[in-house]
Amino acid sequence: MATEQAIGAVDIGGTKIAAGIVDANGCLLAYRETPTAAHEGFDAAMDRVHAMLNDAINSADVELCGIGIGCTGPVDPVSGAIGAVEFLPGWKDCNPVGCLAEMFKLQVAMENDADAAALAEAEWGAGRNKRSLICVTVGTGIGAGIVLDGFLYRGASGSHQEIGHHVIDCSGPKCFCGANGCWEVLARGPAMVERMRNRMPAGGPTQSSLTAKTICDLARAGDAVAKREVERESNYLGIGVANLVTLFAPEVIVLGGNVMLSADLFMPTIQATVHRTCGLVDSKATTITSTSLGSGAPLIGAAAVWRRRFEGARAS
Ligand SMILES: [Zn+2]
Repeated sequence: MATEQAIGAVDIGGTKIAAGIVDANGCLLAYRETPTAAHEGFDAAMDRVHAMLNDAINSADVELCGIGIGCTGPVDPVSGAIGAVEFLPGWKDCNPVGCLAEMFKLQVAMENDADAAALAEAEWGAGRNKRSLICVTVGTGIGAGIVLDGFLYRGASGSHQEIGHHVIDCSGPKCFCGANGCWEVLARGPAMVERMRNRMPAGGPTQSSLTAKTICDLARAGDAVAKREVERESNYLGIGVANLVTLFAPEVIVLGGNVMLSADLFMPTIQATVHRTCGLVDSKATTITSTSLGSGAPLIGAAAVWRRRFEGARAS
């Protein structure tokens, strides 16, 4: 008979859906994942989530006190409905909160995945006991969540801020958001790959398998073109982070996401850019760090969503 209470966690992305169990200390006790296969429909995906969560509950030997969800946005955190998400065609207005609440007879809460990541840092990561935190996820895109005084910052009419799309070079390439040279279009992982491809000999052996990670690996091995690309990426990341320091002067900025798995390569230039260009705020009072929550961060974030919603904020 299970005695320990823990939080069910679900992370819905365009490629995969992860489900797992997180304990009261933010530790991931069980992890399962399945392809999203959005074309098979929302109901089929929820059936797979149901099975994965039950399997995880059994393996971790816990009872669930609730379920938190992080979902690629836009989502409506109040109604629990999915918005018009590019990576989830046909799922608009589907409601995973209502669906899982019915399946498990538990309270369920959902936020977009960038906000879930920010709540994870506020609850169990670098933002613990801090008043102001900005968490930036750099991967296929750039998303961010802002936590002030223990609460998520929300825009007018519930709209989500899009820090990833603030412009850092108005002569830069066009983004789908409508702007030229926004942070995402210049600093997301695929932008590194595109720039690197344009500077490599056509048809080279590594051309087709390039990723942000392989570029970082090449740079570590001393490849001159890759080292220049890492420096270029570091500069773009640094300008964006410096803008956040100047605009918000937060206590903590946490950087996560796949690109930041190589944070050690980028961080010196990011820090130097902040200290060189943020002359009107006390930039040394802002801690800039990479996430310490590891690869389980999205599920830990989902659990934090439930905890903050139903157990109250823990502002210091
Ligand atoms: Zn954009």
